[in-house]
Amino acid sequence: MVAEDMYELGSKKSTIRTIFEYGRQRAAVVGEENIFDFSLGNPNVPAPEFIRQAILDIVQQEDPCAVHGYTVAPGNPEVRETLAQSINERFATKFSGGNLFMTAGAAAAITVCFKALSEPEDEFIAFAPFFPEYQCFVEATGAKLVVVPPQLQDFQIDFAAFRQRINRHTKAVIVNSPNNPSGVVYSLAVIKELAAILEEKSAEFGRTIFLIADEPYREIAYDGVEVPYLSQYYKNTLVCYSYSKSFSLPGERIGYIVIPNEITGFSKVYGAIAGAARVLTHVNAPSLFQKVVARCAGMPSDISIYHENRDLLYNGLVAAGFSCVKPQGAFYLFPQALEEDDRAFCEKAKAYDLLLVPGSDFGCPGYFRASYCIKTETIRRSLPLFARLAADYGK
Ligand code: PLP
Repeated sequence: MVAEDMYELGSKKSTIRTIFEYGRQRAAVVGEENIFDFSLGNPNVPAPEFIRQAILDIVQQEDPCAVHGYTVAPGNPEVRETLAQSINERFATKFSGGNLFMTAGAAAAITVCFKALSEPEDEFIAFAPFFPEYQCFVEATGAKLVVVPPQLQDFQIDFAAFRQRINRHTKAVIVNSPNNPSGVVYSLAVIKELAAILEEKSAEFGRTIFLIADEPYREIAYDGVEVPYLSQYYKNTLVCYSYSKSFSLPGERIGYIVIPNEITGFSKVYGAIAGAARVLTHVNAPSLFQKVVARCAGMPSDISIYHENRDLLYNGLVAAGFSCVKPQGAFYLFPQALEEDDRAFCEKAKAYDLLLVPGSDFGCPGYFRASYCIKTETIRRSLPLFARLAADYGK
């Protein structure tokens, strides 16, 4: 009667959603302030004042038919030109508006890329731990997601494991840095090695292997760590960007894909992206917010609260006996669970109203994710509870 696979996807809640809803029910019983919900990646820092001002200016000053009307499918040409120049200023690239395709956030950007590239029997490679939605986004195109197991000591890339999985069916490799859920930023050395393997394997297999850079956390990086701009190191890169996290605009659905001129078969790739966007009914990215982000191009993201939260939670958990790779970006901590079964561990944490997400959901059993895009005070008050949880495990 219906597409069973779509029914499965739509009716089974994700673990994160289930935990979040459990938290809402518990809050009604024990009070909002007694729930320590580390489950969602929804920014708690309000969108900056310059965004509010840009919205007001556009709505008050510009022609409403242009503000709220359709744009051409790739997005308003002036907006794309402005954003391209802003990228060039920051990353020494040479893009123009014709290299951008505006999308409804990173989810749309990566889905459009998967759909545009996918041919029968194709495979896409992701590195664990990874954003779980990649699985259904890739499978919806008929392709297969191949996962490279995590390199547990630092969550950088296990190249030996990668070499075992890359093959003649590999169409693209997806990289997310700063990473959800580990918070790790892939180092320049890692990116260069990845690029070298992709060059080598593209030549060996006689076909282009693309790199898809999923970058919604690009600006959320701490302690001056460099986040390499991947198209500078590998020409067949598609960059997927979003303003959901950097400008706290997840509900507005705005981002873009960069398709560099140097990419093999530029016009074919750009055309396929336009075609994929068309069949996915992505008529155009939200018009008002295309204009808003263009007005705010290059403006800074305020990451001071996330920085403070990272230090507080990381130091608190380590002091309580947890081991964890110190995140350099995004707003997640990914410590080792205190028992092998990460799901059982997260269930036990619920006794203290600590709501955590099992690492298994990210392809990395034995770990858990704690999102720290929540109130600093909530984190501060959660630390004694983490210490009690650890003490239950003899820490
Ligand atoms: N990619 C990663 C790694 C994410 O963590 C998220 C959202 O949490 C997305 C993509 C989707 O972001 P957007 O809101 O821009 O669609």
